[in-house]
Amino acid sequence: MSCLFCKILEGVIPSTPVYQDEFSYAFADIHPMAPIHILIVPRRHIASMAETTQDDRSLVGHLHWVASELARTMKLDDGYRIVVNTGSEGGQTVDHLHLHLLGGRQLTWPPG
Ligand code: AMP
Ligand code: ZN
Repeated sequence: MSCLFCKILEGVIPSTPVYQDEFSYAFADIHPMAPIHILIVPRRHIASMAETTQDDRSLVGHLHWVASELARTMKLDDGYRIVVNTGSEGGQTVDHLHLHLLGGRQLTWPPG
């Protein structure tokens, strides 16, 4: 399996863990774009949101819930952003579904 995030899940590539459960793993982004920048990934390989199926509905909801729990734990009480880049035009560079949790500074809109 050549997938970078699968290798992180297997422990072959090191990461800084933030949270884990049966379905998901969260770790620090290696190039943080905000004071808090965490990636939340499903343990099962799914390439992107474009590849999700009906069977993934609860998993996708779970990943968003994890992001909100982490935001609460990290006291991001003034707000935060959850980003899911999808496909090449969406800016996705790693083909394993992941949510970015960004916070700790004023985030601007629109995105680039
Ligand atoms: P995306 O561009 O949405 O596919 O996001 C991929 C993210 O993975 C980027 O924010 C990268 O900084 C991050 N990233 C790449 N390699 C690693 C790594 N080894 N550990 C942690 N984060 C990584
Ligand atoms: Zn993978």
